[in-house]
Amino acid sequence: MAATGILGLQGDYALHLAMLEKLGAEGKIVRTLEEINSCSALIIPGGESTTMLRLLKRFNMLDGLKKLIKEGMPVFGTCAGAILLASKISNYPGQTHLDALDITVERNAYGRQVESFEADIEADLGNMGRHTIRAVFIRAPKITETQEGVESLAFFENTPVLVKKGPVLAATFHPELTDDTSIHKYFLQEVAGLL
Ligand code: GLN
Repeated sequence: MAATGILGLQGDYALHLAMLEKLGAEGKIVRTLEEINSCSALIIPGGESTTMLRLLKRFNMLDGLKKLIKEGMPVFGTCAGAILLASKISNYPGQTHLDALDITVERNAYGRQVESFEADIEADLGNMGRHTIRAVFIRAPKITETQEGVESLAFFENTPVLVKKGPVLAATFHPELTDDTSIHKYFLQEVAGLL
């Protein structure tokens, strides 16, 4: 099985690698377009979307990454990663994005770091069935709009927190921060067809 890349420019990428290892899947921290290109799927971790963008631009990776995703590379963005994938960022309209998923997000919509929280959510994981998941939200974005074709797989207080369209999956919470590997398994197995 080909490796799943984890974008290692900034953020909590190492924890995603640990999740993949737990699932017996091959993971690889990637920092160049060539490295991303050698993978079958990509995870964009949480962190700070503005910093990640700055680094993607500095290393001339933004357009190439956009193209790889447009061409069908399966990708999973969590929190800041979900912000990067979104087609619109309502409260930072000038912020560049990868425009890979037809959703509108509001950054930091639940407040500051101290307002971070955890909640149990019910996720509909396709052939894996329904799972109750402990979701950790840290300065999380809110998905305020989903366009046609975007499936909402889990909600918190009526707001989608896990969404998918084709090979693109996004979570506004941090599935790598608990022991539960089901969201990563869902991405590899159901979205990327790798497990
Ligand atoms: N607030 C961060 C941003 O806007 C995202 C936070 C996170 O990834 N936990 O990029």
